[in-house]
Amino acid sequence: MQALQFKQAVIRALHDAQLQTALDRGTTRGVNHRLAAMSATTDAAALRHQARLARERALNQLPALLEQLERNVLANGGHVLWARDGDELNRLVLELCQKHAVRRVVKGKSMVTEESELNHALAQAGIEVVESDLGEYIIQLAGERPSHIIAPMLHKTKEATAELLHRKLGMPLTDRPEEMVRFVRGVMRTKYLEADMGISGVNFAIAETGTIATVENEGNNRLSTSAPRVHVAVMGIEKVIATWEDYAILVQLLARSATGQQLSVYNNLMTGPRRPDEPDGPDHFYLIILDNGRGRIYQTEYAESLACIRCGACLNACPVYQNIGGHAYGWVYPGPIGSIITPLLRGLTQAPSLPFASSLCGACQSACPVEIAIPDMLLKLRRDLVQSAGNASLGWRLAMLLWRLGMTSPLLYRLGAALAGALTRLLAGRSGTIRQLPPPLNGWTYSRDFPAFSKGTFRERYRRRAQHAALRSHDHEPATSQRTRP
Ligand code: SF4
Repeated sequence: MQALQFKQAVIRALHDAQLQTALDRGTTRGVNHRLAAMSATTDAAALRHQARLARERALNQLPALLEQLERNVLANGGHVLWARDGDELNRLVLELCQKHAVRRVVKGKSMVTEESELNHALAQAGIEVVESDLGEYIIQLAGERPSHIIAPMLHKTKEATAELLHRKLGMPLTDRPEEMVRFVRGVMRTKYLEADMGISGVNFAIAETGTIATVENEGNNRLSTSAPRVHVAVMGIEKVIATWEDYAILVQLLARSATGQQLSVYNNLMTGPRRPDEPDGPDHFYLIILDNGRGRIYQTEYAESLACIRCGACLNACPVYQNIGGHAYGWVYPGPIGSIITPLLRGLTQAPSLPFASSLCGACQSACPVEIAIPDMLLKLRRDLVQSAGNASLGWRLAMLLWRLGMTSPLLYRLGAALAGALTRLLAGRSGTIRQLPPPLNGWTYSRDFPAFSKGTFRERYRRRAQHAALRSHDHEPATSQRTRP
């Protein structure tokens, strides 16, 4: 997505009243639930630190863990296939469909298959594919893309969802989410039973036993992976972790950060296909491990971005995401982490605006359960973009020169602050707020006001407060202390 396309997508999002309502409801709920869950957790900071260490352990020994995972999946009776990119992933799935005479597929939530556009590839081959996650199913009905890692239909209000289900499936109109869920469940139930293949994502792959873990709240993933006769799990190379101890730490934080739950309702653990003495489960189990640019990222200073556990907390916390939603980011991964991994996976020139779609306020890093230094990486990507573009424009260089002069000279800084203050107060007039800045600064006021600078500068206020504090402490000094002075 080029700069102009991003700008247009942002403008569209800012003018979409339905989207703004949905974003306000969804992100506020996400932030509040996470904060409540974390504050109810004993020593949440220590838990986050342990999670960080677990992810570091996994990344530090990534090649060895992937080999261990493969060995153990094979030992459990499963198969492991490796995909270099999205096209190869789709080809492998289609070959499996052919091998097992698959006509119908149910698919659980999987960001990796969004990367490869697997649904499209299956549909083109004449294979029916139905999303089994409620949100994903509604998005599929609407012909849209997910707009959030955890809540794919966060951009839709319940009113818009009811209207869609009424129009597409004949559901009686209702504004009660539980009635909508009951209706869709009824539709979905037959799909599970008819499906020949279930495709799922992977939240964690535990190398020491070759176990695949998924977390969910609807039970759809459990049905998708156990009812059909073939189960295909798809994961990026970064999803492998070393041990069950690491899983125990990470799964607690994933639920708290994603939905504010102590633990998700369904924690599915799958170790190979159904065994002879087991009553249910798939006859065949395949694990497809996708690189799609991750191996390249692993070699760079951005390797830390692979520690992401896709909880979505940074999206909810981000003031940019809260205003523009997920679709404006133009690809599968939105929000602060999307602004890092999209340019890294697709190429900097494919998403040059995304590293700049951040105020660098740090809310993302504070929310991140594995303490990824998101603002730091965004800054580095900006540096890379400027370097790859050669020299910056003359105007930009001039502005930076003035900025540098002001920030390195106290006298110029004071002068500049006084001038800027007087100018903003003049432009703002009695309202105290500037509705539209003059060019070239008018982009700032496109969708927000610019408040005039306060009359007193920070330095003046700081000095005054220090003087008051000194006076007060002098007034309250005990008389005895004066007598005892030499
Ligand atoms: S970067 Fe952190 S907060 Fe954002 S989705 Fe990944 S793990 Fe969650």
